Amino acid sequence: MGLFDALFRSSEVLGIAEETLEFAIESSEATHPNEYMGFLRGTEASELGLERDGLVITDILVMPGTEANSVSATVKTSTIPNDVKALGSVHSHPNGVLRPSPADLESFGRGSVHIIIGAPYRYRDWKAFDSSGQPQTLNVIDVDLPDSESFFDFTQADIDEELREW
Ligand SMILES: [Zn+2]
Repeated sequence: MGLFDALFRSSEVLGIAEETLEFAIESSEATHPNEYMGFLRGTEASELGLERDGLVITDILVMPGTEANSVSATVKTSTIPNDVKALGSVHSHPNGVLRPSPADLESFGRGSVHIIIGAPYRYRDWKAFDSSGQPQTLNVIDVDLPDSESFFDFTQADIDEELREW
C-alpha cells in the first residue's frame, strides 16, 4: 500500500462538526496573510451519538514542516506519517477566491473532501470540493466533540504516540 493510499481512505463523509469548521476558519484568519493548511480526519458518527454509519470530520491535523507563505502552502510529503488516515484537506486562500487553483486540483486527487476557506473568514467564507475540484455540499453538523481541548493541539509527540499505536 503506497503512502497516499494509506493516508487517504474512502468512507462516507456525513459532514463536518460545526466546532471543527469554526476552528479551521479561526485558524485561517490567525494565519492570514499566510496560507493555512491541514488534513481532515474523521470520527465514526456512532461514536458521536449519531445513529448513522459514516464519518464526521472532527479533526484537523496541521503537519509539522508545513511551509507557509502568502503564495502557497505546501507540505513536505516526507513529514506525513504513513498511518495517519485523512479524509481530505483544508487550506485557506488569503486572496478570498473560493475555487481551487491548478496546483490545488493536482493535490485533490487523494481524499474525498477538500475545503477552501477564504478571506475575510466569515462563517460562510468557505466551500467544499471533491477530488476532481467540483463543488460539493458538505453538511455542518452540530455535535459535541469529546475532549475538545486537547483535540486540536497536535504536537509531534502526539503524532509519534499515534504511530506507536498503529
Ligand atoms: Zn489553494
